[in-house]
Amino acid sequence: MPDWFRRRHAPPGVANDSQSTGVPDVPAGVFTKCEKCGRILLAKDFERDLKVCPRCDHHHKLSADERIAHVADPGSFQEMDAGLSSADPLGFPDYAAKAAKGVSVSGRPDALVTGTAGIGGYACVLGVADFRFMGGSMGSVFGEKFARAAEYALDQKIPFVVFCASGGARMQEGLLGLMQMAKTSAAVAQLAEAGVPYVSVLTDPTTGGALASFASLGDIILAEPEAYVAFAGTRVAQQAQTHKPPANYQTSEFQMEHGMVDRIVPRKELQTTLVRVLAFFGAPQQSSPLAQAAAAANGNGEMGEPAKSVGRNGKGPH
Ligand SMILES: [Zn+2]
Repeated sequence: MPDWFRRRHAPPGVANDSQSTGVPDVPAGVFTKCEKCGRILLAKDFERDLKVCPRCDHHHKLSADERIAHVADPGSFQEMDAGLSSADPLGFPDYAAKAAKGVSVSGRPDALVTGTAGIGGYACVLGVADFRFMGGSMGSVFGEKFARAAEYALDQKIPFVVFCASGGARMQEGLLGLMQMAKTSAAVAQLAEAGVPYVSVLTDPTTGGALASFASLGDIILAEPEAYVAFAGTRVAQQAQTHKPPANYQTSEFQMEHGMVDRIVPRKELQTTLVRVLAFFGAPQQSSPLAQAAAAANGNGEMGEPAKSVGRNGKGPH
């Protein structure tokens, strides 16, 4: 039968990606579809459900801004070091173009967003990686912002809470990228020595150098359900393995079964869980003089440095 009735072009406003996903096209903006099970969802319901699929419970990635809006008390987040951006120390091909794309997609100059926040009224320093910026990779700015945020938490004696969503060290910065593993680990060690709590939350994905450094060093390590948590990606792991590993060995559940994660927390319970953790650690209330002093110092720009670059030619330490 002739294919007279086959639609060859998508009408205006319709996302035409069925060939790549095998899932029917849906009108852009009104509906969305679960990237795991393909269920068609009303976009506003999807947002209301914190981007968790009601059918298969798949936790879709959140941007840094979405994560902050979910866990931080409304209006409490005060960003630090918002203008830091990476130099291109190696002149790595396409680094500048990829960073520029990350800026346009995420609206941020690098992959880690840090600041002070209240969570259920408890003061903390909050760091959130945004996977949309070059896969949340750790370059000089990521490490520098992490270290500055940790130092601020150390100085103010308030907990440091970090959401990881990272593919690991940023290869475009070579050794400088790898050095951020040591830098972030050293910052966490300083917190540990001073008895300042550090809470790590593993989200999809937490891999490579991020998992091998700051993400695994939390006094308490939480993780979202079925998050991809692995040191090596699937392809590398398959090449290196000598026997067939369990099917779920690169998930947060497997990590918890083997003692690497303290608790798997569904996204809708994450904020209340963090409140309990901060209360357990005796974090100061935001109304306390300590927290108010921290917020005032932050508001006065002590942490809010003007835009600058950090890299081999920058002023920032590595
Ligand atoms: Zn689903």
